This record gives sequence, C-alpha cells and structure tokens, in this order.
Amino acid sequence: MNDDCLFCKLYLEGDHVAETDGFVAIRDINPQAPVHLLVVPERHIDTFRDIAAFPPDEAKRMLEFIAEVAAGAGLEDYRVVVNVGPSAGQTVFHLHWHVMGGWA
Ligand code: AMP
Ligand code: ZN
Repeated sequence: MNDDCLFCKLYLEGDHVAETDGFVAIRDINPQAPVHLLVVPERHIDTFRDIAAFPPDEAKRMLEFIAEVAAGAGLEDYRVVVNVGPSAGQTVFHLHWHVMGGWA
C-alpha cells in the first residue's frame, strides 16, 4: 500500500465491478469505449516495466482475472491495453490493465 496512490486507495475502498484475491476491476471514470474497465492489482508497482516484481503465479492469476473480467462484462471481442510511461499515455503510476470493448 502506497499512501499517495489513487489506485492503492481504490483497491481498498473503490466501487468494484469484480474482485478476487489480490485483484479488482473498476469502471474507468473517463471511458474510451462502451465498456471500459480497469484491472488493478493489490500489489503496487509503478509501471508494467517492473512486472518482474510479480511472483509468477500472481502474474498468471492476474492475466486469468483480466479474461474473467472481460467475460463477466459480456465481452467476446475486446482490447487489453497497458500504457507504459507518460509519453505512451500513462497517467496513474500503479499498474493497471485497460479492458475495452462493447463496440459491436
Ligand atoms: P493510464 O492513463 O493508462 O494511466 O490510465 C489511467 C486511467 O485511470 C484513465 O483512463 C483514467 O480515466 C482512469 N481514472 C483516473 N482516475 C480514476 C478514478 N478515480 N476512478 C476510475 N478511473 C480513474
Ligand atoms: Zn498503488
């Protein structure tokens, strides 16, 4: 838990669309698609660049949870995006996965 981190706070007290041990999904406050969710891990790392800090089983469960969240939102086709660094569009420095879909 990083006291200054928005997503550490939302992990603990946000409005969760889905949750499992160590991971939650929330609605993006500024959706860029008809369905736009964010998968947020409890473990704080600033960016995907530091993914090696995740134990392998946790990283696997995170990927599985992303697929579960998309399926749970009724999405068959969807986009999973991680912005890495400010020039790539990252604005929140706690790893999160955008799950976007619902166009068709
Ligand atoms: P990124 O720009 O890849 O770091 O993604 C950060 C995302 O968090 C953006 O799509 C924002 O719209 C979203 N966001 C920022 N604040 C909140 C919040 N309080 N609740 C939900 N989503 C948020
Ligand atoms: Zn955090």
